[in-house]
Amino acid sequence: MHIAIDIDQTITHAPEFFSALTSALTGATITIVTVRDSTDGAEETLRLHNICYDRLILSDDPQLGRTGDTEYDEWKADVITHLKPDIFFDDSPEIVHRIQPPTRVFMCCDEVMQGWLAKSLGR
Ligand SMILES: [Mg+2]
Repeated sequence: MHIAIDIDQTITHAPEFFSALTSALTGATITIVTVRDSTDGAEETLRLHNICYDRLILSDDPQLGRTGDTEYDEWKADVITHLKPDIFFDDSPEIVHRIQPPTRVFMCCDEVMQGWLAKSLGR
């Protein structure tokens, strides 16, 4: 099983959960995909939260990094489409709406997103 996970507002939303999940899934391939670049302390964040992973893809990744004026959301969705993980965790509707089967999406929902959903639903 291949699992792709975002960092900000995803791992950082529930770090204990993602630490336990990534530790428990022995045999799974875990790829972290983030819009952070190599100056933004992604590895430090992952170490701080005890996240187990096989690969970290940053927006300035030498092979899969963002090019030209590609929007960050589009870049990330393209990376996930290229990787075709079985499961993808992210918090951004601008990204997750672009992900097609067979990848299954789990969208994290913090207080800001809950407020946005409530507003969108007229509640
Ligand atoms: Mg995020």
